[in-house]
Amino acid sequence: MRFRQDDALIVVEVQRDFCAGGALAIVGADEIVPTINQLIGEATAEGATVAASRDWHPKGHVSFEARGGPWPEHCVAGSEGARFHEQLRLPEDALVVSKGADPEMDQYSAFEGTGLIDLLRRRGTQRVFICGLALDVCVRASALDAARAGFETHVLLSATRPVTQAGGEAAICEMTCAGVIVEQEV
Ligand SMILES: [Zn+2]
Repeated sequence: MRFRQDDALIVVEVQRDFCAGGALAIVGADEIVPTINQLIGEATAEGATVAASRDWHPKGHVSFEARGGPWPEHCVAGSEGARFHEQLRLPEDALVVSKGADPEMDQYSAFEGTGLIDLLRRRGTQRVFICGLALDVCVRASALDAARAGFETHVLLSATRPVTQAGGEAAICEMTCAGVIVEQEV
């Protein structure tokens, strides 16, 4: 089996706005949901931790185009688009962390200011396996932070998608250089 009890599976931003029909839809995002559900099932069966991060912006967030930011309005807290993908099967006891809630600051990493590092350390987590959206933005930032925090960090390529192909390739290089284990197949 892939997972051990001292592992954590981190599901990054599998939210409706990043999937087909959403405000900031990523090509192929919906395709990874069954793979992620399979990973969640395997992790849960082994007693590993499952955590999910979500983008959770106030209206008028600094990252939105209306304020000169790079992104269209997306994942406004409490909106339909901010909900997890309707087919995502998170366990009841999943750790859910929200980010991007400060109107003046954007956050790409699931570990930055969310308390997730401490939560995992308290559980004795040694290895983290990261999947979700998007490879070249929040998965990348989360993996770099996890590696810096001292976790053995894996990124599962078949369970993530990039915003752009070139961005994805650059992110793979950067993460590999930082000691992240990038796995082609689940
Ligand atoms: Zn955002």
